[in-house]
Amino acid sequence: MADICDNADSVIQQHLQAALDAVHAVDDEAPIYINGVACCVDCEEPIPLARLAALPHCCRCVDCQEEYEEG
Ligand SMILES: [Zn+2]
Repeated sequence: MADICDNADSVIQQHLQAALDAVHAVDDEAPIYINGVACCVDCEEPIPLARLAALPHCCRCVDCQEEYEEG
């Protein structure tokens, strides 16, 4: 019986860790705020409102996003 309990605990731990990782992943995709303005996490320039409206979770300006996607 102890083995079954241990397995259940480890499964729960894996689910918890996955949930925590998901939360952190979302955090990584949020812009930084400088004086209340959403700014690019890379160059700290304000992100255009039109871009934020289209992509609420974007965290980079167009230029930095292109660089980021190119690697
Ligand atoms: Zn930028």
